[in-house]
Amino acid sequence: MMSNSKTLHARKRIALIAHDHKKAELLDWAVYNKTVLARHELYATGTTGKLLEEALDVSVRKLLSGPLGGDQQIGAAVAEGRIDVIIFFWDPMEALPHDPDIKALLRLGVVWNIPMASNRASADFLMTSPLMHQEYTVSLPDYSLYLGRKV
Ligand code: PGA
Repeated sequence: MMSNSKTLHARKRIALIAHDHKKAELLDWAVYNKTVLARHELYATGTTGKLLEEALDVSVRKLLSGPLGGDQQIGAAVAEGRIDVIIFFWDPMEALPHDPDIKALLRLGVVWNIPMASNRASADFLMTSPLMHQEYTVSLPDYSLYLGRKV
């Protein structure tokens, strides 16, 4: 059931994350979309953020490196309504030590109905959506029954 909502402003707070074997692809995509990305507020896990700053020459709010807690920081920001969009190029071909953190972040993106792209095609669709550049009301699930449950 959907009963709550929140407003995403025209200038979105976008979190960008790429696993090591996906960093080149994310950088290539980000350079291609540089003009559009520059209109928004960018956040990233540590290493991804450093590479993005170098490639785009824009400022990126860098969190910790993913395996050191950066994914969890982004997850917390999503839960607290401080991130609007996630672009997360995760690697489907490699097991990573912080797999639980990755799953937790992807889960929170669904819990809070955040627009998320995990591959380049989806990221292209997101970036070219008119909703990226205008105010948008996100419907949030009604968690009141869950919160009011008897335990
Ligand atoms: P990194 O973290 O940007 O610091 O490499 C990404 C990740 O592995 O989650």
